[in-house]
Amino acid sequence: MKIYIEDSLWDSFSFFEEIRKFFKFSVEFSPYKFRDPYFLAYIRVRNPNKKEFYEPFPVEVENEKKGLIKGVIYDGVELLKYFSRDVDISEPTVLITNRLIATFGEDGRYHLRMIVMGPAAIISLKGVLYAPAKFPQYYMMHSFGFDEKIDVKVDKVLKMLLLQFYAYFKHEEIFCENRECMLHNCHTTEEIKKVKGLCEKHKEMLGDVVNLSALTV
Ligand SMILES: [Zn+2]
Repeated sequence: MKIYIEDSLWDSFSFFEEIRKFFKFSVEFSPYKFRDPYFLAYIRVRNPNKKEFYEPFPVEVENEKKGLIKGVIYDGVELLKYFSRDVDISEPTVLITNRLIATFGEDGRYHLRMIVMGPAAIISLKGVLYAPAKFPQYYMMHSFGFDEKIDVKVDKVLKMLLLQFYAYFKHEEIFCENRECMLHNCHTTEEIKKVKGLCEKHKEMLGDVVNLSALTV
């Protein structure tokens, strides 16, 4: 598995060893930089109830260049399309970013996401902290500040999300109904706490690629 870490996050990312220990296959880490600040400004979520993009203001492009993106939310599908075109995706490839990502749902609203999956995947570390905790509309309305402390085991969630993408990539397996299984699609911090390992079915499918003892519950 190849894991890119967005360059602004690389120095503070502290889960390299944890992730390596969890998977039995080799995991390669590299820093990644989005080289198109205009595109990043263009795919910002402007309205939680509408999927529409328009010409960014020059100051927004400038702020992208400077990394002044506090409270900005990006369309996760567009971001993933860009990333998937930019890197080799012949093996499972993931980008871990600090950006907030959202996807537009069938209910006509954007929802904050921890992960967006396709031919590759993007995991939002901020999304891990915020997406399961409250409704995205809350954050869109209060997008100036994300200062609350939220009780989530980040390393556990990262392992879950990486394994979910691996299962999707290798086995086209999406999610598991079993609430204790790592492939369960958790939406709240309470649900994340209930996850303990793999169910019987997924132990058979994935038991040989992970060290379950390295899972902090
Ligand atoms: Zn399962």
